[in-house]
Amino acid sequence: MGFYRCEISFLYHALMPDSLNHLPVHPLWQSPLTIPGGTRQSPINIQWRDSVYDPFLKPLKISYDPTTCLHIWNNGYSFLVEFDDSTDRSIIDGGPLENQYRLKQFHFHWGAMNDWGSEHTVDCKFYPAELHLVHWNAVLYPTFEEAVMEGNGLAVIGVFLKLGACHEGLQTLVDALPAVKHKDTVIEFDVFDPSCLIPSCPDYWTYAGSLTTPPLTESVTWIIKKQPIEVDENQLEAFRMLLFTSDGEEEKRMVDNFRPLQPLMNRTVRSSFQSRHLLNAEVQPKDHAEQMRP
Ligand SMILES: [Zn+2]
Repeated sequence: MGFYRCEISFLYHALMPDSLNHLPVHPLWQSPLTIPGGTRQSPINIQWRDSVYDPFLKPLKISYDPTTCLHIWNNGYSFLVEFDDSTDRSIIDGGPLENQYRLKQFHFHWGAMNDWGSEHTVDCKFYPAELHLVHWNAVLYPTFEEAVMEGNGLAVIGVFLKLGACHEGLQTLVDALPAVKHKDTVIEFDVFDPSCLIPSCPDYWTYAGSLTTPPLTESVTWIIKKQPIEVDENQLEAFRMLLFTSDGEEEKRMVDNFRPLQPLMNRTVRSSFQSRHLLNAEVQPKDHAEQMRP
């Protein structure tokens, strides 16, 4: 336990800007009892220069049927857009995956402010929000619940949200959010194609990790897209108008619903693309030699 706290606090204090030294921590993560002693926990900081280009990684293939979308559910921690996963109508394959995986749900994590909110970070940089599209391996496992317990059971696509132009695809969803303001509310939300939320750039990082909400099982092949999508301030504010609390309870805004960073341990983050850091490193010896000339 001590190791985890030490490692995480080292990360924040050594590498974060001063203003981010004291990130808010959701009550779910304030007790050390909720930190399991695993070796492949998520989220992590993706250190760009330490990621390893893997030329054998294939492009990720995404095929979603918009009619499999069922409803939106405020579960008291985020809002989940859930899909009919009884057949192979909305699936992904390729990328780092050996099987086809079925879309179960997607949801977001976000901050009270734009300076933080994502779960993963890139070179210790937080984005204001992060989208997770959760899929399960229906080739090897009969149910989602069984897949959650297995090392290759789940595949989650992570997409960073950054502040910019209004995202028209997301707006359809944003318009529906007031109806699920309170915890435990569900509305019908049929016909939505979440591929509109996935950036066109094919580049991604991948690593073996865990769920970032209980049961935190180490069952996830993470596929983190390099390119973020743009959303505007009003869209992020619509997320922040949701509540952690049920109707009748004292209102608590749904913000800062992300898990703190976990140690990388003995893991490698692979990239589907060649790193610009590597290219920079290759030209450095020449620059250095030139500087040494009289
Ligand atoms: Zn998530």
